[in-house]
Amino acid sequence: MGLSHSAARLTYSAAIDSALKYIGKDREKNLIKLVDLTEKFMGGNFSQNTYDAIRKIICGKDSKWMRYTNKLLDELSPNVVKMTALNLGYEAAFNGTKTIRKMRELHKCNIPWLILMDPTSACNLHCTGCWAAQYGNKLNLSFDKLDDIVSQGKKLGIYFYMLTGGEPLVRKDDIIKLCKKHHDCEFHAFTNGTLVDEQFCRQMDEVGNLSLSLSLEGFDEVNDSRRGEGVFDKVMEAMELLKKHGQLFGLSICYTSKNYRTVTSDEFLDMIIEKGCRYIWYFHYMPVGNSAAAELLLDPDQREYMYHRVREIRSESCDKLIFAFDFQNDGEYVGGCIAGGRNYFHINANGDCEPCVFIHYSSANINEVSLLEALKQPLFMAYHDGQPFNSNHLRPCPMLENPELLMSMVEKCGAKSTDLESPETVEHLCGKCALYASEWKSRADRLWEENSHFGGTKYMNEKDEIKNA
Ligand code: SF4
Repeated sequence: MGLSHSAARLTYSAAIDSALKYIGKDREKNLIKLVDLTEKFMGGNFSQNTYDAIRKIICGKDSKWMRYTNKLLDELSPNVVKMTALNLGYEAAFNGTKTIRKMRELHKCNIPWLILMDPTSACNLHCTGCWAAQYGNKLNLSFDKLDDIVSQGKKLGIYFYMLTGGEPLVRKDDIIKLCKKHHDCEFHAFTNGTLVDEQFCRQMDEVGNLSLSLSLEGFDEVNDSRRGEGVFDKVMEAMELLKKHGQLFGLSICYTSKNYRTVTSDEFLDMIIEKGCRYIWYFHYMPVGNSAAAELLLDPDQREYMYHRVREIRSESCDKLIFAFDFQNDGEYVGGCIAGGRNYFHINANGDCEPCVFIHYSSANINEVSLLEALKQPLFMAYHDGQPFNSNHLRPCPMLENPELLMSMVEKCGAKSTDLESPETVEHLCGKCALYASEWKSRADRLWEENSHFGGTKYMNEKDEIKNA
């Protein structure tokens, strides 16, 4: 387009304003205009098929995803819609992706699309089995450090930042300050939901670039048995407040052998949709930590149930207007493991740069090295060289499904445990996954053979191109 970055952002921003202004009158026409403009700006970042598929959804008025979009436009605050489109769409998907691709070639290492950081290890709850309860409020990334990470990240093309903990909203003033200072970035916090109040909802609305995922593990009895008496009701109240203020939020659910049916049941989905949830992140239980309970791991039948059920929830024939994503069974859409900086990595409250929120090993601390140096640490380079860890993306993880790989990477790279309370050896961690991995292998191979060919081939080609560049 030949426009400077800020001029292009302004043009795109004006186009979104005008589309939103008339969205109530002639929605289909204005949405198509926005897709045309997006194609003009972002062009080759996405395939022609992607733009055509979006136009088809818009024209199919009664399709599930058009009804979903209409609901978002009718119910979300206009500032949230605009800032999400600008920051997640224009900055992260367009401007950021272009820069990231260049930086990957220049620096010959993984440069992620998003960074997950823990502002604090403190939490106001004491859930059974959670490391935050043990760390307490000892560890924090200062506002200046968070600001510095985002500033360094933008130079590499990273415009999307997720926050977890501990409970990130223990630091809600600093989070809002960060959203304001980096108003061209998108922020997303994984929270227990109990610190959401009227004032915070108003602040979220004002900044427009912060969305939430609330943790829930089932209905009240199951949820509160681990999280504490009354927590379920507080999460319900938080959802009502967020919905009232037109904020974008969904759920983050750890599924286990005990709760996987409940958290995918029609009854549960209907309840959270009614409360205003727009999406669900399903996270497979990971047996991380010296005292982790291996019996919560799913057996092959249970995991296969999740594989089919999440696809069913997303399908056109299912009437649930919610977007569900399974962090373990949807590897095919993202080319397998996304960690080690390929698409994301994790900075804990101590500053340790870990490949993944579940993999607590590192040899780089952001208080001592730059972001780029952290991305070039030996363990991340081993991820870079090893990804994808399996050509079957239903077995993506170097820990859960290929435990021998994590063991060898951590040992070869000399990475240390970052668990400050009870350091776990990589042999102990991977030992808990060995049986699971061998039992899942034959089922995963059959499912992959029968169903999944979307991302694997594509990513292998893309990676070959990067390697040959
Ligand atoms: S390390 Fe495992 S859990 Fe983390 S992103 Fe990779 S596949 Fe997923």
